[in-house]
Amino acid sequence: MIFPSDHPDYLDQPKGIKQVFLECGLWPNKGLVMQCKSTCEVGMTDCCACCLIGNQPDFKKQQSLVQEVIEAAGHKCIFLLKSHYELNFIEFFWGAVKCYLADHYNYTFDTLKENMLKALAAVEVSTICKWEHWMQRWMHAYREGLGAKEAQFKVCKFSSTKYTSHHHIPNQVAAVFDT
Ligand SMILES: [Zn+2]
Repeated sequence: MIFPSDHPDYLDQPKGIKQVFLECGLWPNKGLVMQCKSTCEVGMTDCCACCLIGNQPDFKKQQSLVQEVIEAAGHKCIFLLKSHYELNFIEFFWGAVKCYLADHYNYTFDTLKENMLKALAAVEVSTICKWEHWMQRWMHAYREGLGAKEAQFKVCKFSSTKYTSHHHIPNQVAAVFDT
């Protein structure tokens, strides 16, 4: 939101969150911090300006631009849980790429650029499939209602006892993943 032309001092300037609230009559007399220092308390809707604006009906309804663009192109946009890298196997891919780059680095930007495509190509498709299967096992464990620790224990136990090949999943396991 920007100031309209009848504010010559602020023409085309962003209004800012406080001005928007003042105009809507939502700015509390006691004032508000812009954002809570740590995470906002669960259930609070007006602990800070960011929380208050995030809880306005029009803000809640607004999708992100990324989501709008993805869905306009006919795709689904699925947000993964925050801080659960184990459910996002591209994280393992980036990790492997970074390892490759670190192993082939001579502290020059040219070498880094040269090695980037090699690093991306160095990750075998079979390895990516392994990560995808690993992620499926995490999802299965969470669907059973397990917490993070129990799920990790189950996934690790499963990997070491039943599933040792990167290239093949036993049929009974594939059936579990399909459910
Ligand atoms: Zn807050």
